[in-house]
Amino acid sequence: MSCEGNCINIKYSNDCLKLINNTFERLLDVNSINYQIELKKSLEEIGLFFDLDRIYIYYFSKDPTFMQIECQWNKKDIRLKREVEEEEVVYALPWLIREIKNKDFVVINNADEFPDEAVFEKEAFFNEEIKASLIVPLKSENKLIGFIGHESLSKSMTWEEYQVNILRDISKAFSYTRARIVKEKTYKKALSGQAILLNNCESQIWALSNVTSYATVNEAHAKFFGKKKSDLEYQDLYDIFDIDTANKLSASNWELFQNNGPAEKELEIKNFRGENRLLQIKSKPQKDKTGNIKYLICTAEDITEQRLSERELYKAKEQAEAANIAKSQFLANMSHEIRTPMNGIFGFLDLLQSTNLSLEQKDFIREAKSASEVLLYIINDILDFSKIEAKKLTMEKIKFNLRNTIEDAVSLLVPKVVEKDLELYTMIKEKVPEEVIGDPSRLRQVLNNLISNAVKFTKKGEISVTVDCLNEDNEIALLHFEVKDTGIGIRKDKINKIFQSFSQADTSTTRKYGGTGLGLAISSELVKMMGGEIHVESIFGEGSTFKFNVRLKIAKRASEHKFAFEKLDGVNILIVDDNTNNRKIVTSYLQGTGIKVFEAENGSSAITTILSNANTKNKINVAIINYHMNDMSGYELANTLKTIPFAKDTKLILLTSMTQKGDAKAAKQHGFSSYLSKPVRRDDLLGCIAIVLGLKKEEEQQVITKHIGKEVKNELKPNILLVEDNKMNRKIVITMLKSHDMTCDVAVDGSEALKAVAEKDYDVVFMDCQMPVMDGYECTSKIRLLEGDKKHTTIIAMTANAMEGDSEKCIKIGMDGYISKPINFDTMFSIIEENTKDRGIVNNYNRIIDDNIDYFVKTTGLDKEDAKEILEEYVRCLPDLLSGIRHAIDDSDFDKLAGLIHELKGSSGTLRIVSIHELAVKLEKAAFKQEINECAVFFDKIKDLLH
Ligand code: ADP
Repeated sequence: MSCEGNCINIKYSNDCLKLINNTFERLLDVNSINYQIELKKSLEEIGLFFDLDRIYIYYFSKDPTFMQIECQWNKKDIRLKREVEEEEVVYALPWLIREIKNKDFVVINNADEFPDEAVFEKEAFFNEEIKASLIVPLKSENKLIGFIGHESLSKSMTWEEYQVNILRDISKAFSYTRARIVKEKTYKKALSGQAILLNNCESQIWALSNVTSYATVNEAHAKFFGKKKSDLEYQDLYDIFDIDTANKLSASNWELFQNNGPAEKELEIKNFRGENRLLQIKSKPQKDKTGNIKYLICTAEDITEQRLSERELYKAKEQAEAANIAKSQFLANMSHEIRTPMNGIFGFLDLLQSTNLSLEQKDFIREAKSASEVLLYIINDILDFSKIEAKKLTMEKIKFNLRNTIEDAVSLLVPKVVEKDLELYTMIKEKVPEEVIGDPSRLRQVLNNLISNAVKFTKKGEISVTVDCLNEDNEIALLHFEVKDTGIGIRKDKINKIFQSFSQADTSTTRKYGGTGLGLAISSELVKMMGGEIHVESIFGEGSTFKFNVRLKIAKRASEHKFAFEKLDGVNILIVDDNTNNRKIVTSYLQGTGIKVFEAENGSSAITTILSNANTKNKINVAIINYHMNDMSGYELANTLKTIPFAKDTKLILLTSMTQKGDAKAAKQHGFSSYLSKPVRRDDLLGCIAIVLGLKKEEEQQVITKHIGKEVKNELKPNILLVEDNKMNRKIVITMLKSHDMTCDVAVDGSEALKAVAEKDYDVVFMDCQMPVMDGYECTSKIRLLEGDKKHTTIIAMTANAMEGDSEKCIKIGMDGYISKPINFDTMFSIIEENTKDRGIVNNYNRIIDDNIDYFVKTTGLDKEDAKEILEEYVRCLPDLLSGIRHAIDDSDFDKLAGLIHELKGSSGTLRIVSIHELAVKLEKAAFKQEINECAVFFDKIKDLLH
């Protein structure tokens, strides 16, 4: 190697180092803005240094099948590598790209060096008149990102190794810088993206470095205060805002910082226009490694309008509710107002009914009464419904006998059930408490609604009412009620609607069945108020089961109230009924009493059971026999049993769904000792068994019937005091009493009533509540004071007020009961019957015995004792007979009348009771001539004789 060559080489290598150094220096600080310029300068410097014609840099695109020139340099008078710098497909130079991927560099000293496969590359070389080319791959983090091409077009050249090495070294500066610039661009892009979001966001966003200092804010926050971002960033609140705003903001910030975690608050603050705006601020601290808050990031929404519209909405809702309550209140008042005249309609219809009328007129009255009853029913529903809507309905809390309440509710529907020839069962399970505390009338109302719906929507089959106690918790019983029917059922899609007000499952059937669609809505509310829920299961066409629960406080458990069961130990009872449910119910009612129960599903198996047990310890003592049975009727079975010696002394109880008068007599004639109406009440059943076995005394030992009892009492002369200021109401009650051969004393206000009660013993006082001078409440409490422990006059409130708490108030003040107007006169009379002391009529009837016995003994020659017994039997039958006559006259039923008068005439004649006999003869003649008015006259005369 010569010195010259050496020196040149040294000089050259120094220049090379300088070139490398320049390139690196130039590109080291380059940023995205001056990148292209500096890059091009570098290419130029390299090109000139190596006497090249063109240099270009390609980078692969995101999609690596594309590439694009990033920068190109060309010597003067040399064509540009690419006129348009746009994306090109990589596969245009497939061989070259492959070489680049696999080698550190690709050198082409002339076109002949291309292998055969490099068809495109050769063509490009030829077309572009390239003489020599060196291509160096560009890599970042060991990944190929592009390549740099160095070309000579003017001359062919041989690439020396050192040249290649230098250019490879320099290429690293390009790939490094490019990677840095791409990263920077991406970062900037991201930042500007975030800034776009932050600054265009409607929500206010800011970061606080402490309670009074901002770190950064977005445009929205700055704009709220009419400021620029830069006015706020890194500034103290007190340097930016007026003292009020700064105070408010720092107080709010302090609160948020205090939370040391995510927090939320509302802040009312003035905006740049001086308007008060409500901001809903949410904050989240950003903590450093030691857990100290570095920044508190806050966002805020302006909820001023939202809050305003919320308030408007709330106001509108309140107004709507108030309007609704007012409407309901109006409805409640209206229904109250309607009830008062209804009282008049009812009363006068009742009175009209008791006058002498033609059959047609009676029919009209019956229709008018039933229409009024429906009207009253609807009014009551509307009243209840409006009370619920007006939130005025409350529950009473009184102690009541649960079993009786349920049984009463069921009994009420018995006539309808009988009319439709349906079966009705009640099953009150053993665990159901005897007495509970709650609102009996509301419970009865729910039951009544469900049972009457069941009756209404059932054409044939049966209805059962089952009551069970599911559990007890803290003296509260969870009671479960089920009312099941075999009626029309409810379609699936309608089932959820029926509990809504005014909705009926099938409006097309509404006409057929009637109703308001309010009953279930009311029931469902009432059940809710009793701490339970109601629902229904139904199969369309097969029937429905309504189920509900209520929670009631226990006052007396079932076991605490039992009959003296020890006496029933060893008693064997046979229940004869073709209906399994009926047998099951009777059996369950007798459970735990010591009674052994046998079952027979028809007459013949009953006979077999009685006979096969006759001489054993299982001898049947009592047989309870259903009236309707498939193989033989109850009467037939009884007749048969009486002819069988072994069965003769089995006591018989008739189980019947008929509750007509005369049943008792017929039952007696067929050898029954007693009869029970279905659905059977447990206490009646036990009482009845006890009586027929002689374990319990009852005035009417042979046959107990409620009707006999009732009719006897109807003939009593009760002492009634009516306290009423309203003339019309007084007239109705007085006339009504008169129609039942009763009278009353009258007081027009409380003070008169007080005087009357002090002077005379009354069986019952009917007391109006609102009266001038002294109202019913004051009067009652004064009466109670007067009486002390010595006496207790029955006082029954009579008022048109059907509003919440009325009955409770009456009871609290010391009244014994409550009748709401319009007065249900049946209820009134049953109250009178219950309270009338057993004095008048019995004595009067006994007088008949006293007046006639001597003559009877004289004319018949009977022993006085025997004569007395016969007359007593006559007297016992007399009330029944007389009341039958009175009803026959009322109904103008001359056939029946003839039969009954004949009986009266016959018995009075036989017993030589001349006065009655003579009148009976006259009555018979009048009846024969069908002169109803005359009949009434003679009948009254007979009655006069007895009083
Ligand atoms: P109403 O009987 O006065 O129409 P309710 O609220 O008591 O009103 O009942 C609403 C509707 O539910 C009835 O019209 C009827 O369509 C349906 N429904 C209630 N009980 C029964 C039942 N036991 N069987 C079939 N449908 C019933």
